[in-house]
Amino acid sequence: MSEDATALETEAIEDALAIVATLAGAIGARRPTSRAERVAAEVVRDALGSAGIQSTVEPFRAHPSFGYPFGAIAALASAPALLPRRRRTARGAVAGLGAALLAAEGGLRFTPLSDLLARREGRNVVATIDSRGNAARTLCLIAHMDSSRSGLLFNPALGAQLNRWISLQSVAALLLPSEPLLARTAPGRALVGAARMVTALGLALLVERELRGVDVPGANDNASGVGVVLQIAGEIAATPLESTRIVVLIAGCEEAGLLGTRAFLRSRDTDGWLFLNFDSVGSTATLRYTRVEGVLRRWPCDRRLLSLADDVSRERPELGLERVDRPTGLTYDATAVLARGGRALTFVAADDGRIPNYHQPSDTLASLDHATLARATAAGREMVARIDRGEAD
Ligand SMILES: [Zn+2]
Repeated sequence: MSEDATALETEAIEDALAIVATLAGAIGARRPTSRAERVAAEVVRDALGSAGIQSTVEPFRAHPSFGYPFGAIAALASAPALLPRRRRTARGAVAGLGAALLAAEGGLRFTPLSDLLARREGRNVVATIDSRGNAARTLCLIAHMDSSRSGLLFNPALGAQLNRWISLQSVAALLLPSEPLLARTAPGRALVGAARMVTALGLALLVERELRGVDVPGANDNASGVGVVLQIAGEIAATPLESTRIVVLIAGCEEAGLLGTRAFLRSRDTDGWLFLNFDSVGSTATLRYTRVEGVLRRWPCDRRLLSLADDVSRERPELGLERVDRPTGLTYDATAVLARGGRALTFVAADDGRIPNYHQPSDTLASLDHATLARATAAGREMVARIDRGEAD
């Protein structure tokens, strides 16, 4: 091991490790909108307070699972099979409603179905750290504190195919409104049948997850990201940046559909801000930064932030930082920023499009890779320093 790498392993990430242990160990599973998520918000606020950073807990309306809106959409796509075959127009109309709602949800901006289902409360923890001099820019550091639920959908055997499976379901749901037209020919009818099988299986998988899945401790996804952001925020509070105002966003309900970050973005003007997101950065995998994000729709990450990360990757080889060109995992908090035309980038540890222990009960403290967490923290510090020098302006 090189001298640089040894130095990195031992580099201080005590604050990060402490919050990860509390979130994934003492609190455990943190389902969106649950009491555990509320407790996590208090713990994060206390940790920020210990670092001398005042924060506020911002409640927002939310639902506990992405299975709610996407289950409703899959049900609308599948339900026409229950109507008599001659009622083609009615069958097409129900499927059309499902497709329209899917297109809206996938766009991550106008989401009437998610809004309708948001009957509970989620929480964000938000803090600001002012710069020494006049602030020339605002950089928002994001990590979500909630954790996901397991299920067949996240079976490791499916692995990197998850993104493709969801794309296939979307194609099927968007195709089904054309049934009145397609049903005129035999191949068309076969296509409709196949598409309906896909949406019905999608619905079954979502229901299976709600009924048989378990909420996971989420040490990697995403206590690790919270650890990185709190570690860096504490250091910045101790030694403020020259000209960059830092906003810390520890988001809730990411796993339910980026609900915390979307509420945050709706609640204030973030025009011109930069966003660095840390999600699942504590596993035994290569530390990467995303070039493109999104599942139903895809958005490129910010060009300048990407080129800064390219520089870090090249100039700090001991960080083992690599760009990932294809979508990895599902959506991220940063995806909501990108969907609004904002400037964002996500750091995630993954190999071959797979995040280790992704939404599995095995995502525990015991699986946490301290070296990856240390490298992610170092990469974050490096990005912040360069951004403060105006390199992303
Ligand atoms: Zn996550």
